[in-house]
Amino acid sequence: MENYDVVIIGAGPAGLFMAKELSKDFSVCVIEKNNVGETSKFWVVSNKNVRDNRLEDCVICRPKECVYRNYLGNEFGGKIKEGNPIIDEHKVLEKWAKEAKKKKVTFHEKTIFQKFNYNRGGVKVSTSKGILQARLLIDASGESSKIAKKYGMVKIIGYHSTYGGLYENLNIDNPDKIVMWDYLKKSKPIKLWLIYPLSKSKAYTLIYLTSSKKYPIDKLKRYFKDYIKKVSYLPRMMKNAKLLESKFGYIPLYERKKAAINRVLILGDAAGLDPPCFGGGFYIVLSLYKKFAERIKEKLKENKLNSLNLQQCVKLPEIYQDNFLFQEILSYAMRNPDKEELFLKGMEVLSNRFNSRQEAKLLFSKAEPKILAKLISSLIFSYSLEEIFKLLPKENIPLFIELCTRLLEDSFVEEAYEIFNKKYPKK
Ligand SMILES: Cc1cc2nc3c(=O)[nH]c(=O)nc-3n(C[C@H](O)[C@H](O)[C@H](O)COP(=O)(O)OP(=O)(O)OC[C@H]3O[C@@H](n4cnc5c(N)ncnc54)[C@H](O)[C@@H]3O)c2cc1C
Repeated sequence: MENYDVVIIGAGPAGLFMAKELSKDFSVCVIEKNNVGETSKFWVVSNKNVRDNRLEDCVICRPKECVYRNYLGNEFGGKIKEGNPIIDEHKVLEKWAKEAKKKKVTFHEKTIFQKFNYNRGGVKVSTSKGILQARLLIDASGESSKIAKKYGMVKIIGYHSTYGGLYENLNIDNPDKIVMWDYLKKSKPIKLWLIYPLSKSKAYTLIYLTSSKKYPIDKLKRYFKDYIKKVSYLPRMMKNAKLLESKFGYIPLYERKKAAINRVLILGDAAGLDPPCFGGGFYIVLSLYKKFAERIKEKLKENKLNSLNLQQCVKLPEIYQDNFLFQEILSYAMRNPDKEELFLKGMEVLSNRFNSRQEAKLLFSKAEPKILAKLISSLIFSYSLEEIFKLLPKENIPLFIELCTRLLEDSFVEEAYEIFNKKYPKK
């Protein structure tokens, strides 16, 4: 039986990052059901992420603007200092796998994790190709994690279902602008059409919808094709489009319960470690996992691998709390749609704490539409717009109005702007 300090399930960003870090001091084995370097996802990150992780060689381009374009044709968002890096997803995974191999990490590709049992040496890991022994098992198998579900480590609220692809031969107006296209308001259930341009003729583009269940891929594929015909801008952009690679997946909306049980730690999408309204799990890996790895190494050295110790390794820093606070409010609101005061309170707290307009926009734009619509309508029935505006910082009000318009009647926009302009007359 092969014996390791650490066995990691999954060679996605979370698993590979941990493998390359932990292998500096410990023996590591990675099991991956597909081949290492494969992924159906792609990643946009921050410039700090790129610098801190020395990923300059994996950046494809840096669009300078990111906008949310609503069905009225209005655009919100704006310039991004230094641009928004889009990462070559295969290159980064291959780079990390290469680093891990240099440190003698064993990779078992085309190998499926089946189950684990505790034994004297720690954990006995059963896979489709045999049994492995580990002191610590890390589950980084993504949103389909069996362990997270079996041991009640996450509570499923829902999923953002995505489908699209990397295309060439496109006709893109502005290759320097990431567009979250919300022209689709009246054509449910699809919410957003995203365009991440790499050049004038090449882009990642996909549909995005949120619901309590996963939408099957073939259904998403059908929607994707239908919407190209329905949305005025898309036929021109997609006329001669040639698919290079399909892109799809589910971004989990989880409420985190616990990140570890004895000798087993879950990471990445498996753990809901990405604030669910944010959809930036790769960004979180780049931002936090170095620190997590240092803490895990300490616990491995001391052989303190019980659930409490392991849980401490993935404690999130303060700065991420806004996102998780929103997650908690949102999940509470989803369970108790009648308690709009609580939602309002949450909004109040959040509106004072949002550290960036962009972030606020992302949070709102990705929340469950039906529930938010209900909450926002009841909010507006219970409180006047003037009262709501009192709670929100001035700079967040237009954003609030615009985001609400996606969920409410069109006339709301005009009314809200009228009140807003009265409250804050243009000088
Ligand atoms: C279309 C799309 C676009 C995205 N865009 C962004 C973005 O711009 N920025 C950003 O920060 N994040 C983005 N995300 C989110 C990000 O991709 C995820 O948060 C991230 O990939 C999570 O990494 P992970 O390693 O936890 O899981 P995954 O990437 O899902 O990797 C899990 C790995 O485990 C393997 N596996 C699963 N089950 C088993 C098993 N039983 N045995 C062995 N192996 C197994 C899988 O094959 C896979 O390789 C996007 C997601 C999607 C779907």
